[in-house]
Amino acid sequence: MSKTPEFGLLIDYEYCTGCHTCQVACAQEHGWPAGMGGIRVNEIVQKLPHDKYYLTYLPFPTELCVLCKPRTRKGLDPACVQHCMARAMTYGPIEELARKMKEKPRMVLWVPK
Ligand code: SF4
Ligand code: SF4
Repeated sequence: MSKTPEFGLLIDYEYCTGCHTCQVACAQEHGWPAGMGGIRVNEIVQKLPHDKYYLTYLPFPTELCVLCKPRTRKGLDPACVQHCMARAMTYGPIEELARKMKEKPRMVLWVPK
């Protein structure tokens, strides 16, 4: 049985600009080839009435995310968190992140397997 995870990523996608810097930072940190990586920035286009559209960016970790353990063991933030200029991601203990989720809408808590 796998160990219960203690740490995760809180993603405040309201402030994500879709810049993809988190993807690049992850690829550089872990040496991922093109098309692979620990996080993907999804673009969600929603059609609204009167020919209007609503665009949302949702960065979401993949199965390859290892939560940057070599960095966090040294007290550093994960590479994606450190390089996000919008401060859209937070790394920390799951209980603390879950409490933060109550502060505002449009947040996603990601917990690894
Ligand atoms: S999470 Fe941050 S770095 Fe990633 S696409 Fe959004 S704004 Fe850019
Ligand atoms: S925590 Fe590390 S491994 Fe996971 S997506 Fe961010 S940079 Fe990649």
